[in-house]
Amino acid sequence: MSDFDVIIVGGGIAGASLGAAIAGTRRTLIVEAEDQCGYHTTGRSAAFWLAHYGGPAVMPLTLASRRDLEAGWPTGERSWLRQRGAITIAREYMHLREALSVNTHEAPLHELKCAEMEKRIPGLRAGWDFGVYDASCADIDVAGLHNACLAHFRRSGGTVLCSTPLTSARRLGDRWAIEVGTERLTAGIIVNAAGAWADGVARRCGVRPLGIQPYRRTITQLRVGRSDVRDLPLINDALERFYFKGESDNRVWVSPHDETPNDPCDAAPEELDVATAIDRFESVVDWPVERVERSWAGLRSFAPDRVPVYGFDADAPGFFWCVGQGGFGIQTSPAAAKLCAALLLEDEPGVPVKQAVFSPRRFSPSGK
Ligand SMILES: Cc1cc2nc3c(=O)[nH]c(=O)nc-3n(C[C@H](O)[C@H](O)[C@H](O)COP(=O)(O)OP(=O)(O)OC[C@H]3O[C@@H](n4cnc5c(N)ncnc54)[C@H](O)[C@@H]3O)c2cc1C
Repeated sequence: MSDFDVIIVGGGIAGASLGAAIAGTRRTLIVEAEDQCGYHTTGRSAAFWLAHYGGPAVMPLTLASRRDLEAGWPTGERSWLRQRGAITIAREYMHLREALSVNTHEAPLHELKCAEMEKRIPGLRAGWDFGVYDASCADIDVAGLHNACLAHFRRSGGTVLCSTPLTSARRLGDRWAIEVGTERLTAGIIVNAAGAWADGVARRCGVRPLGIQPYRRTITQLRVGRSDVRDLPLINDALERFYFKGESDNRVWVSPHDETPNDPCDAAPEELDVATAIDRFESVVDWPVERVERSWAGLRSFAPDRVPVYGFDADAPGFFWCVGQGGFGIQTSPAAAKLCAALLLEDEPGVPVKQAVFSPRRFSPSGK
C-alpha cells in the first residue's frame, strides 16, 4: 500500500495549481475521476481575467494573481494573458452604479461617452448609451496554465492518476486510509478540490459537507456576418444578462449569464439558454448570426456566502477544503494556490489576502 503526505482529490485548475505550489515539498498524489484532468469546469470557462469579477472578497486574490499569470507561473515559459479590455454597457446611467463602485488604481475604470461606445463597439444598436471601460481585462490561456501546473507538479516528483475516483476514506490515528479506483492508499492530508462534487467527496470521507452548490452556466459559439471582431473588448451587461467576446475574425462566444442550480454531472447546454444568449446578443449589436457552431455548459460551484473556501476543516483533522471557486477559479488560481500551500505547509502566505475570510471555520457549528 502506497503512502503519501498529501492526496489532492480533483485535477482541475484548483487541484493542479495547488499541486504546482507544493511541488517538491511533500509526497503528493493528485487523483482525478475522469480520464483527463480538465474535463469538467476548468475546460469549459470563458477564459477571461476581470479585476472586479466575483465581488470584493475575491478581488484581492484576482489582483494578486495578475503578475503570476503575466509571468507564466509556475513554469515561466510564456505569459498566460492576452490584453483585451472590457466594456460594461447599460441603457440607463444608473445601471452602471455597481460597475463604477469597484474602481481601483490596479484596474482603473473609464466612463465612455455615447460616441466612444459606437467607435469601440461597431454595429452597436441604439439605446446602449452608457459604458465603463476597463483596460486591464485580459484573455487567459487556460489550457496553457493548467498543463503547465500539471507538468511542473510531475517534474517535481508529484504523481497524477486519472480515471481514479476517490470512493471512500476514513481517519485512522493521524492518517487517512483511502480507496481510490481499485487501489488502497494512506495519506496524512486529503485536499478536497473536487469542484461541483466537493460535498459528495466530503461525505465519502465522513466529513460534514459545507453546502457547496453547483450552478450551470452556458456559452454558445456563433459565426457572425461581420469580420474583425476577435480583438474587440469583452462586452458585459451592467444588469448581468449576458456577456460576449470575439473568438476569431468572425466568431463570438456569448453567454446568457444563466445560473441554474444543477446536481454535479457532465453538464450540457439547454436549448432555451442558447436561444436566450442569441436573443440578448442580437439586442446589442447588428452583427448577423449565421450559425451556432457549438455550445457547452459547465458548473460554477459556490459556498453559501459565495466566497471560496480554503483551509483545514474545523472538525475533521487532516481534511483540507479548496472549493467554491465559482466563476473566478482560473483568474484567482496562482494566488489561491499559494494561499492554500501556505496553510497546508504552515508557512507565511506570500499573498496579500486575509486568510480568515476564506476559512472553512466560518461554517463550523462548533464555531471553532
Ligand atoms: C461557462 C463558464 C465560464 C467561466 N469563465 C471563467 C472565466 O472567464 N474566468 C475564470 O477565472 N473562471 C471562469 N469560470 C470558473 C472556472 O472555470 C472554475 O472556477 C474552475 O474551473 C473551477 O476549477 P475546479 O478545479 O475547482 O473544478 P473542476 O475543473 O471541475 O475540477 C474538479 C475535478 O474534480 C474531479 N472529481 C470529482 N469527484 C472526484 C472524485 N471522487 N475523485 C477524483 N476526482 C474527482 C472532477 O472530475 C473534476 O475534474 C467559468 C466557469 C464556467 C462554467
